[in-house]
Amino acid sequence: MKLCRFDDNRLGVVRGNCVHDVSDVLGVLPQVRYPLPDHDPLIAALDQLRPRIEALADAADPIPLDRVRLLPPVASPRKIIGAPVNYRLHLDEALADETIHHGTNIMPIDKAGLFLKATSSLIGAAEPVTIRFPDSRNDHEIELVAIIGRKADRVSRAAALDHVAGYAIGLDMTVRGTQERSMRKSCDSYTVLGPWMVTADEIADPSALEMELRVNGAVRQKARTSDMIRDLSTLIERASAFYTLMPGDLLYTGTPEGVSEVKAGDRMIASIEGIGAMTVAINGPE
Ligand code: MN
Repeated sequence: MKLCRFDDNRLGVVRGNCVHDVSDVLGVLPQVRYPLPDHDPLIAALDQLRPRIEALADAADPIPLDRVRLLPPVASPRKIIGAPVNYRLHLDEALADETIHHGTNIMPIDKAGLFLKATSSLIGAAEPVTIRFPDSRNDHEIELVAIIGRKADRVSRAAALDHVAGYAIGLDMTVRGTQERSMRKSCDSYTVLGPWMVTADEIADPSALEMELRVNGAVRQKARTSDMIRDLSTLIERASAFYTLMPGDLLYTGTPEGVSEVKAGDRMIASIEGIGAMTVAINGPE
């Protein structure tokens, strides 16, 4: 099932080139009261709600996808986790290019571990990335994103994928510079998630997906998730060793080689096999 959020916080099921509005199901979610939950309530309830969502989708009129504005498919992730330099050839290019590493110590992922991005940086496919520091190099990074579906506290590699609710395409937009990753990668709009979430049952092997990112029609990144230095299961094992993963948490799994600068007016098209494709615009600072 492909699940999207669109327009004014509507929930939809994507079938072919259309969206079926299933927002009525949101009425059964627990009413949120202070203090706010430590997870995304829809993702936490997804397995249980799925039959009702499918039934609502069957009954809903199709809306063409090009008539809706896609929001991030997860509304309220409590953590956005990133994997630094998790593809060999991206590690090589980062080490070789001063405008990428800026004299910082680029450590291999086994030494560096993971990092966090601010949840306030999250946008969906319909919203442009707004360049925050036009005098710096601002790069695209296409990444497979795993959406956590079940609480995961110190899970083993073997059990890791049981905790994944689904997948989406991520863009880990990055200001190159000397600052901590958590700062450079957390500008407003620098975390794109879309175009929708594909439930895990539709992705037989997250380590066998082709991905591609084009800027203004030219291919910049093209790789397979099998090129990851540490696979998704290992990333979940390592993340959950340090902190409990909760439903709705997002794990960005790292980007392959070919990162490059984007500027206001550019258009990115990001695609991952089994998920789909999304077009994301780049705006200048307001
Ligand atoms: Mn990244």
